[in-house]
Formats: sequence, C-alpha cells, structure tokens
Amino acid sequence: MARVHNFSAGPATLPECVLRECAAEMLDYRGCGMSVMEMSHRSGAFQSIMDDAEATLRRLLDIPENYRVLFLQGGATLQFAGVPLNLMRTRRAGYVVSGNWSKRAWQEARRYGDAIVIASSEDSSFDRVPAFPDSVDQTLDYVYVCQNETVFGNMMRDFPQTDDVPLVADVSSCFLSQPLDVGAFGLVYAGVQKNAGPAGTAVVIVRDDLIAQGPALADICPTYLDLRVEADKGSLLNTPNCWAIYVCGKVFHWIEDQGGLKAMERSNWDKVRLLYDYLDQSGLFCGTVRAGDRSIANVTFRTSSPELDDSFVEAAAERGIVNVRGHRLVGGMRASCYNAVSPASVQELVTCMADFEATHAGAAPENATRAGATPTQVTSGSPTDPKGVRSG
Ligand SMILES: *Cc1c(COP(=O)(O)O)cnc(C)c1O
Repeated sequence: MARVHNFSAGPATLPECVLRECAAEMLDYRGCGMSVMEMSHRSGAFQSIMDDAEATLRRLLDIPENYRVLFLQGGATLQFAGVPLNLMRTRRAGYVVSGNWSKRAWQEARRYGDAIVIASSEDSSFDRVPAFPDSVDQTLDYVYVCQNETVFGNMMRDFPQTDDVPLVADVSSCFLSQPLDVGAFGLVYAGVQKNAGPAGTAVVIVRDDLIAQGPALADICPTYLDLRVEADKGSLLNTPNCWAIYVCGKVFHWIEDQGGLKAMERSNWDKVRLLYDYLDQSGLFCGTVRAGDRSIANVTFRTSSPELDDSFVEAAAERGIVNVRGHRLVGGMRASCYNAVSPASVQELVTCMADFEATHAGAAPENATRAGATPTQVTSGSPTDPKGVRSG
C-alpha cells in the first residue's frame, strides 16, 4: 500500500488510523451486523454516534452551554444563504471580503438584503487580510468574515471589533487547526471536508438567542435552513449525512488524543513554517501572501512563470507529492497542510522544491519579488464566477 503525500485543499488527507478504524468497522459496526452507512439515522446506535461527536467537539472547542451545535448538509456554501435567511432581521449586514469565499458569501447575501462591504483586499488580489474599520454601525444585523481564505492563503489573527453586533465566521479551512473562541461569535460554521472529515456536512455553531425567534426571513427560509427547527430536531429534521458525522466523530477523538487544539496549532505552525521559511530565502519560489497574514493551513506560492509552475507540479507528482496545483483562480501552487498532513510529507515537499530550484537555477527573472508578490493574473473565470471555482 502506498499512500501519497496529499496536499489537497479539500476533500483532504484524513488520519490514517481513522481510515483504518472505519475499515475495521465497515461490515459490522460494533456488533450491529451492519455498517454505519446502512443503519437508521433514528437508531440508538446512530444517536450515540451523533451525541458522542457533538460532546467531543464541545470539549475540543470548549463550546459554551448557550451555543447549539448542528451537523447540516449543503456544505459551507449553503450557509452563505443560511446566515442571511436566519440573521438578517433588518436586512442590513456588513461583510469583510478577504478572498473568493467571503466574496461569494457576500454575493449570496445580496439576494436577501443590503450586504455592505466594510473592508476588502480585492485591490491587492487578496494577498492580505484587509484593515478592519475601527467600529461598525451598531444597527447592522451581523458582521461576516471568512477567517481563513483557502484559495488565496490568507488568515485573520484577529477579528473586527463589532461590540453588540453579532460576528459570523466561516472557519471551514482552519476549523480545528487551532483554538477558536466560540463565545466571541454569534455563529461560526465550517464545511468539514477541509480538516475534520469527509465531504457532505457543515458544522454550524450558533448562539441560541440568535435563533430563538426563528429565521429572520421566515416567509422565504426553507425549513431545512431554519436553524431553530434544526436545533430543536437535533440535526435530524431529515436524514443527515450519517457517514460524514461518524468519521468526524473519529477525527475529533483523534485530535483529542493528539493533545487538543493547542497541540494541533503548534504542530501546524511547525509544519507550515518549514515551507514559509523556505519561500522566504528562495530565489525561485515566492509566497503570495503578506507575511503577517499567512495561513496556518493553505500555503500559496509560485515560481516566475506558469510553465515552470507546471513543471514543478509534475516533478512533485513523480515523488508522490500530489494536489499542489493552485486553485485555477490564482494559478501557481498551494500546499494545504491540514492536521492530518504529516511533518514528513511537508519536509518531502520542501526537499522537492529545493531540488527543483537547484536544477532550475537562473530561471527566476530579475523582477521576481518575494513575499507579497502579486499572484499570477487570473486566466479563467473570476473570483465571482462559479464556473471558475473548484473544490477548496
Ligand atoms: C471549501 C470552502 C467553502 C465551500 O465549502 P463547500 O462545503 O464545498 O460548500 C467555503 N468556505 C471556505 C473557507 C472553504 O474553504
């Protein structure tokens, strides 16, 4: 059996021991005589799986009592609509646009009300987190951010000061990579396929007073997206993604066994630092995000030309290093170093870059700049064009 060095942005590497456990339980889940894929979502066995997944996640993130935890389908994308449908009571919300995912969330929200861009880094090709306003209009229904922009590779260290306005965050690609102060948010959500499990579920964590009255746009909100109903039904309004929730539960336990989120944070920075340090001294490769805003998970970089980028991706594949091609919106390369990516895989990637650089010495043009360089021009689609958006 040969496992590759998988730097996929999502769906992404899962811990090998979790995969082995799933394999061992595939034909007979703990004496049930069937797999988790074959059992009723109303069964006691499945309810225990859900309850255990939620309890483990609550321990990991230290989720306050007054927050509800939901496992919903539709990925992170469905919550682009779920957030305004549930929270846009006066139909006015503020959006920080720091990459394509927050931009898409903003565009979706505009279908429901006045979604106001309160900060954006689009002018600099999302090479940074934009500066936040000192204060926000206290009549806004919420302020929305995407903590870690998976495609561009920038990540927020702190958040806008919103005072009484609830802060909403898409944390998909840094979910469980590091601690998160859930109590600072009104609502956070994450598609789990980046760091927590297989595709097909989003975890939504919401403060209960925000959903107590039902959805803001009750007349048009689909029942499935009514977070009060989902909370009342324990995410079992309809058949949930049983398999994804089961695997997530195992990953949550695995993270706990690794020492929890502080330990994950340390090991993740240790891993990506290997790459960032290499990029900072390289004459061929350059990082595409301003140093202070670099992601803990998605390391974006490029060489001096798309052709050379292609040859690097091929050279990497020959060494079993896969899924390092950048998102097609930005080109270049992206190495997603989520929790389950081993330090050895990252070291192998750095070695591969060094070897590639040695054999291509002199390929960097005079004007190649390092950290903070503008990413390659968009060649197809745009950050707003769904056709141009691939997974991750
Ligand atoms: C991947 C991703 C999404 C989209 O997730 P889906 O589950 O495919 O809808 C949204 N936001 C961020 C930050 C992501 O990384």
